[in-house]
Amino acid sequence: MSKNVLVFVEAREGGVRKVSLEVLNAARKIAQDGVVIAAIFNPEVDSVEPLAHYGADKVVTVNHPNLAIYTTDAYVQAFSEVVKEFNPDAILMGHTSVGKDMAPRVASRLELGLVSDCTDLGLSENEVFFVRPIYSGKAFQKRKVIDGKIFATIRPNNIPLDFVKTGRSAERIEYQAQVDPPRTHVKEVLRKVTGSIDLNEAKIIVSGGRGVKNAEGFRLLDKFAELFGGAVGASRGACDAGMCDYALQIGQTGKVVTPELYIACGISGAIQHLAGMSNSKIIVAINKDPEAPIFQVADYGIVGDLFEVIPLLMEEIRESKL
Ligand code: FAD
Repeated sequence: MSKNVLVFVEAREGGVRKVSLEVLNAARKIAQDGVVIAAIFNPEVDSVEPLAHYGADKVVTVNHPNLAIYTTDAYVQAFSEVVKEFNPDAILMGHTSVGKDMAPRVASRLELGLVSDCTDLGLSENEVFFVRPIYSGKAFQKRKVIDGKIFATIRPNNIPLDFVKTGRSAERIEYQAQVDPPRTHVKEVLRKVTGSIDLNEAKIIVSGGRGVKNAEGFRLLDKFAELFGGAVGASRGACDAGMCDYALQIGQTGKVVTPELYIACGISGAIQHLAGMSNSKIIVAINKDPEAPIFQVADYGIVGDLFEVIPLLMEEIRESKL
């Protein structure tokens, strides 16, 4: 059965986030002949075209001065209104900081169930199913929404961008939301990590642990990651030791990432760290202890001192690029 699917689109610094394009592709997978509606708040640029290319049939631009900067109150109220107005069969959002903040609140306001942090979705016997990791990524469960509207958040970097049709266009709908003055006021947004790639969306992550020794050691990881256009992450051990910012922490109490390549440098592989990265497509571990647990999840392991191994790898990569 065809489904009308509403997608919440996230934009940052004028551009649509890659995760939202993935969510549009996810919507296309389940919509069949139904309509995919992309809702974008206060867009700074004309976003209709790129959203149409990745699957949107309609683009709703939701405008209000109170939506200029993200606040939970305003966005939840406005998006809940959009859901009521367009009454879709399914609602999808990225499982990002914003998605994690908004989705449970919207679900609660509209009395909907929520399937969160899905890594895949599809159709089976005409019913939508979702796949989501459980037990810190050790197992996966398949969920179906039996009754009512479908509402789910999709983990970044998991839905391949298979649906891209550059010739497509979408209908643009201007929507004036009613938004109460938010209870919280954002005075200034300070970015902790500037100019670097978002860990949630990075295809390649070079991650450092206590074995990196100090902040200077992390500069080596920065240079290593730069060679492949990757992002730098860290274990909590490294963050606790003051080697890097907590914004880089990956794991149970940090970010959950699924890059195509995860290179763990001087990380032992504690269960809490694995919870944040064990679903990466390919894992490479560099550790001087051959018994380190990280080798149990690694696809490729290098036993050695990272300060010797990384410069050698960098040399090889530079040569292969010539
Ligand atoms: P260590 O365990 O000290 O490992 C350092 C590794 O570096 C060792 O294996 C060593 O052999 C290797 N090494 C040393 N020198 C070199 C060298 N020169 N070259 C190569 N290898 C070298 N941790 C997280 O990462 N993320 C979380 O979200 C998280 N949440 C937690 C939540 C709770 C409630 C608790 C209790 C803990 C949490 N932890 C988390 C902490 C976790 O248990 C570990 O303590 C932490 O992951 C260890 O960090 P590490 O691997 O960098 O350090």
